[in-house]
Amino acid sequence: MNTRTNINTLKCLVPFTIAEALEMKAAHPDAFPIAGGTDVMVWMNDGKMPGRTYISLHRLAGEWRHVTGTSDGGISIGALANYTDVRMNPLVIERWPLLVESARVTGALQIQNRGTLVGNVANGSPAADTVPVLMVYDAVLVLANTKGERRVPLSDFYTGYRQTIMDGSELITAIELPHAALQPNQYFRKVGTREAQAISKVVCAGGSTPGGKQFRLAWGSVAPTTIRSFKTEETLANGADAEEAWEVLKTEISPISDIRSTAEYRLRVCRRILEEFIGHQSVS
Ligand SMILES: Cc1cc2nc3c(=O)[nH]c(=O)nc-3n(C[C@H](O)[C@H](O)[C@H](O)COP(=O)(O)OP(=O)(O)OC[C@H]3O[C@@H](n4cnc5c(N)ncnc54)[C@H](O)[C@@H]3O)c2cc1C
Repeated sequence: MNTRTNINTLKCLVPFTIAEALEMKAAHPDAFPIAGGTDVMVWMNDGKMPGRTYISLHRLAGEWRHVTGTSDGGISIGALANYTDVRMNPLVIERWPLLVESARVTGALQIQNRGTLVGNVANGSPAADTVPVLMVYDAVLVLANTKGERRVPLSDFYTGYRQTIMDGSELITAIELPHAALQPNQYFRKVGTREAQAISKVVCAGGSTPGGKQFRLAWGSVAPTTIRSFKTEETLANGADAEEAWEVLKTEISPISDIRSTAEYRLRVCRRILEEFIGHQSVS
């Protein structure tokens, strides 16, 4: 039986400015930032986080709750922008439709009104629904600490199951997407126990540039981290059919059996998704 984390064992710091937040993180590298809390609260409820220090970011909404177009045609999604902010944004609807689709099937409306995309990225879950989409759109994370900022491609961010390259002193301040070059051949598929409000057994996002010169394909719940299947993308760009592409994809994924599904089922689903994706590209 799980015991809830005793709230009296927790310490919560509340910065009022970004500078304060970064100073607190530098002073407490083990502290857990809290954005929407939709993951953190579940972990607390499971008794997994006794004696922890937290940094609640909610007072930074003025600076960090934004979805803003950039001068080079990209977009910046602030660390406190939630799913509803993203899926209702006219620019996102026009240029990054897979973000709308993935945000729409992440949790229920309550989760979408509270959970952030940055929280979805930072928690490191291989089942996170927006991460394959962000990878397909070549997302870059802005990491900051008291010494400055660095930009890291999302496909280089994860190092293992729930492991990232983030330093204990850093916070993610935003996700940046470059100008969308994939229109209109875009694809998203979440396979769960039901279409929404279920954690994915397999989730996939993909697309190609006009003329099929370049493909992008990213997968969740089929490896210790969300992955871009770079070799499969290359094979497809060289004109491979579904059978040939599957032979390559098989070498890039390593699904396991867990409480949500079996490795065998996940492999079968990946193959069907790959076929559907290829069919979708040829009719788009
Ligand atoms: C009922 C329910 C249904 C859900 N359904 C789905 C689903 O369908 N698909 C899905 O992918 N997820 C789902 N989730 C998981 C969760 O809602 C998402 O992962 C959400 O995006 C987390 O965002 P948050 O702002 O609530 O993060 P938090 O819980 O606040 O934080 C999550 C993690 O990110 C870290 N973090 C947050 N902000 C920062 C920052 N700025 N810098 C560095 N680290 C940071 C935290 O320390 C923590 O490790 C569900 C959760 C619940 C409770």
